[in-house]
Amino acid sequence: MGWSIRLPIDHAFRLLNRNWSVPKGHELTGRCAQLLLLQGGTPVERRRQRDRVQPWRAWYKTSRWQKLRMSVLLRDLFTCQMRGCGRIEADTSQLVADHKIPHHGDEALFWDENNLQCLCKPCHDKLKQKQERASRFRD
Ligand SMILES: [Zn+2]
Repeated sequence: MGWSIRLPIDHAFRLLNRNWSVPKGHELTGRCAQLLLLQGGTPVERRRQRDRVQPWRAWYKTSRWQKLRMSVLLRDLFTCQMRGCGRIEADTSQLVADHKIPHHGDEALFWDENNLQCLCKPCHDKLKQKQERASRFRD
């Protein structure tokens, strides 16, 4: 296990502009560092960094998640739960099991069926954009 480095956001972006990358065996933590890693490097590097800083990404690839996701879509009758939308979508690839409270790697929140809702893709993407903007201000 390497070190953990916490970076303030302006520092992170300064490093990013210098094409800085994480030294081998070291790890960046914190949401600012995540932002940095998600934006720097080659696509392959970015993917590797993402998996390292966001190990929960692998949870989406488990059959446990596939089952949970489908049970949520079914429970919500393939209907988008966004207020004012209510779209019914037969193509489940166009539906997202969305975490109402962002889990940020919290296992309890991630796997909690009551924290999940069925959203159509357009609503989901709009919501994520809004949340991302909000979290950028928090950082
Ligand atoms: Zn919708």
